[in-house]
Amino acid sequence: MANPKFLCPQCKQKTGVNILYGYPTIEAFEQSERNEIKLGGCVLMKGQPERHCTSCEHEWQIVRRKPLWDIPEFPL
Ligand SMILES: [Zn+2]
Repeated sequence: MANPKFLCPQCKQKTGVNILYGYPTIEAFEQSERNEIKLGGCVLMKGQPERHCTSCEHEWQIVRRKPLWDIPEFPL
């Protein structure tokens, strides 16, 4: 199953892929090697980009009405 590619807002090429957060599966590693997804690591934080462009390395967030994760801001 092919993953969808998204239009990059920076270079205007359809080479944007979803960034996968959390511990990756073997399948996710294989998809990452084919540039079908981007592995984002295991740390979930607010404000992380959700898409990655395999052409220009630009990363961006999808505009949503509600945040994906309702994580409160931690005071530093
Ligand atoms: Zn791009």
